[in-house]
Amino acid sequence: MSKKEAKAYNPYDNMLSIMDAAAETLGLEFNDYIAIRSPEKQLIVSLPVMMDNGKMEVFTGYRVQHNSARGPHKGGIRYHQDVNLDEVKALSAWMSLKCAVANVPYGGGKGGITVDPRKLSQGELERLTRAYAAAIAPIVGPQSDIPAPDVNTNGQTMTWFVDTYSKLKGEFQMGVVTGKPLELGGSKGREEATSRGVLFVTREALKTAGKNFEDCRVAVQGNGNVGGIAARLLAKEGCKIVGLAGTAGTILCKDGFTMGEVVSLTMDRQLMKTYRREGVEFITGDDARDAILTCDCDVLIPAALENQITSENADKIKAKFIIEGANGPTSKEADAILDAKGVVIAPDILANAGGVIVSYFEWVQNLQGYYWSEEKVNSELEKFIVTAYEDVYHTSQKYGVSLRVAAYILALKRIVKARKLKGYFLG
Ligand code: GLU
Repeated sequence: MSKKEAKAYNPYDNMLSIMDAAAETLGLEFNDYIAIRSPEKQLIVSLPVMMDNGKMEVFTGYRVQHNSARGPHKGGIRYHQDVNLDEVKALSAWMSLKCAVANVPYGGGKGGITVDPRKLSQGELERLTRAYAAAIAPIVGPQSDIPAPDVNTNGQTMTWFVDTYSKLKGEFQMGVVTGKPLELGGSKGREEATSRGVLFVTREALKTAGKNFEDCRVAVQGNGNVGGIAARLLAKEGCKIVGLAGTAGTILCKDGFTMGEVVSLTMDRQLMKTYRREGVEFITGDDARDAILTCDCDVLIPAALENQITSENADKIKAKFIIEGANGPTSKEADAILDAKGVVIAPDILANAGGVIVSYFEWVQNLQGYYWSEEKVNSELEKFIVTAYEDVYHTSQKYGVSLRVAAYILALKRIVKARKLKGYFLG
């Protein structure tokens, strides 16, 4: 990506340009659409944290509530050194759209803290999370805004969050976050839900094109919760995994890694630095990103961060299918290039919806106090995400648009319908 493009990239504007195109195709009335273009609420908090060395540091945290026409705000909390307001705004809007596409009864929200969590001790992370939970407590709750894990946050982070919130409220408020450990009201199947959703969407996209898993060589960017588990699930179904990439670099194998290699390389993210055998290539540094994105494969799964596929590398992409495990991995310029090349892109707000779908199941189980088996969670997830895929696919056929624009059209239709039923009182 050129410096100019990196500077020009604004995730919220990127999101808005697709939303505007979808609204235009749909012929939405100005009054019905205009409010959806802006987040309902944006909260910025300063979080003083006592560090282990006795010095106080102040971190910046965000919670953006994008839209609540269809239900409480819902969306994860991200810890990353690049977190900023525009990113959180975009991520919150994608949650509104994703929940509408998945047809779960939520609006969208997102939170984040600008921090490199690798540089903090467990104790510092706990104090930071508790400070953040207390700071945003006035605007979250099981019926108003329900956070969850996102990049660099997990069940432990959710535990500190729910504990802080519950202590402030004077009662255990299990439903305030999802993605909790099983011991504290978490749902079976939640941890691998996003990846399992990616698996189902890949299967459906291939099926539409008359292909199946055995036909496919797959490359996965991102070796975190989503990418690593997706690689293992796809390998188990018979796909050939030909590339894996994480923060350590990119590892490629034209003939495909064995199941054992896929497991080892995704469980231990540093292993690729030292793992060598004939036919295996390791790329590190500046070239690592394009090495995974442009490698010879049929299915590419970007499951890392935003703005990875850009106008600079889109033309070199060989995959015929892109299944977006990450949020916002493709810039709008790249989207146009890939569209013209006939690449099928299952957009983020469909492809990675498995996480929030099982978050919804977790919340339902918390409200009911009755817990489901893993089989039930997985089969309900399959029903929800396959229905979402079919709804998006039929919308794309009806309007003659890409799956991405179709997903936005479907989401906007559902959000506008809810908004119209409620009327416009207080936004
Ligand atoms: N962070 C995930 C996402 O971007 C999950 C959100 C949730 O479960 O609320 O979809």
